[in-house]
Amino acid sequence: MGNLVVLAEYLRGAVADVTFELLGKARELGNLLGLSVEVVVVSDRQPDDVTGRLGPADRAWLILHPDLGEFQPEGMARALAAFLGERRPRLVLTSTTAFGMDVAAGIGGLLGWPVVAYCSALQVADRTIIATSQVYGGKVLVEVEIPDEPTVIAALPGSFPAPVGPSAPAAVEIWEPAGLQPARLRLRRWVEPEAADVDITRAEILVVAGRGIKSADNLPLIEELARALGGVVAASRPVVDAGWLPRNRQVGKSGLTVRPRLYLGLGVSGAPEHLEGMKDSQLIVAINTDRKAPIFDVAHYGVVGDIFEVVPALIERLRPEGH
Ligand SMILES: Cc1cc2nc3c(=O)[nH]c(=O)nc-3n(C[C@H](O)[C@H](O)[C@H](O)COP(=O)(O)OP(=O)(O)OC[C@H]3O[C@@H](n4cnc5c(N)ncnc54)[C@H](O)[C@@H]3O)c2cc1C
Repeated sequence: MGNLVVLAEYLRGAVADVTFELLGKARELGNLLGLSVEVVVVSDRQPDDVTGRLGPADRAWLILHPDLGEFQPEGMARALAAFLGERRPRLVLTSTTAFGMDVAAGIGGLLGWPVVAYCSALQVADRTIIATSQVYGGKVLVEVEIPDEPTVIAALPGSFPAPVGPSAPAAVEIWEPAGLQPARLRLRRWVEPEAADVDITRAEILVVAGRGIKSADNLPLIEELARALGGVVAASRPVVDAGWLPRNRQVGKSGLTVRPRLYLGLGVSGAPEHLEGMKDSQLIVAINTDRKAPIFDVAHYGVVGDIFEVVPALIERLRPEGH
């Protein structure tokens, strides 16, 4: 078949954003290499809205089986291995998420295909596909030459832009796996995270509190600055671990990946695990007393200074005239 196959992440009745990022990248690679793009959704029921949204693909497949409900990695990997093994695509693209990591490893193991995980970039040089992959939690990047045989790539969410604008709906063909073993694991229940008061991944302006804010008592100052800028407050992990802000405000490897128009870091050192979640922000501004703080390596503008002096001065400057 020699084409590019994106494995859609389909959870709770919706296709995850990362699927569209993968479709965008697959489309770009497909155009460069003259390969078609296919997308595969695995589900235990016919999803409602899928056809209209998978347009960037030339062809869409639904692998349908009553045992392939959410979080059935074993069955999904077996069904996908059977489907992909017959077709031998050039690349199988999935995400470095709970879903993608499970199925990528399963497919690789069952078919003996190479797997590249934590991929953050994919490019073509002289018709060779090269993947950039993060190792040691993002401290080191490696470039991997993809062999001329089917390879599974698990890409980090947020690595590629999703295609913009409407696209024609893909026609969906159904494929029913035969002889699938009954599932041994059953999803018991969803444990919801605490209600997300703010979605920091959608905010255009983020004021990010690091350990440098020293205490929860100083949060009102940070919130005042965020209000003055028309943004919302996010945090590094120590601030969340200390219970000063909820988990859904955390930026970074074990938190959320953000790409705001403005990221303003206050007392954030810029550890690799934090940078992983914010380095693609459009404008990065950092305030830190330590001029050697690694955040300054990625910041477009930096202030070497004390947030307790700079932030009140900033708020003062942002105050509307006469107030
Ligand atoms: C597996 C793993 C996953 C992780 N995931 C994440 C993650 O998702 N997100 C995340 O953020 N971290 C994560 N971490 C933790 C990460 O390694 C760092 O420990 C963390 O990012 C540091 O947070 P910080 O910059 O707020 O604190 P620190 O590193 O303690 O930095 C505080 C900074 O504040 C500055 N400062 C102090 N006082 C002032 C002042 N008055 N004015 C101005 N600046 C001041 C200091 O100079 C310093 O640079 C993870 C770690 C591991 C091992």
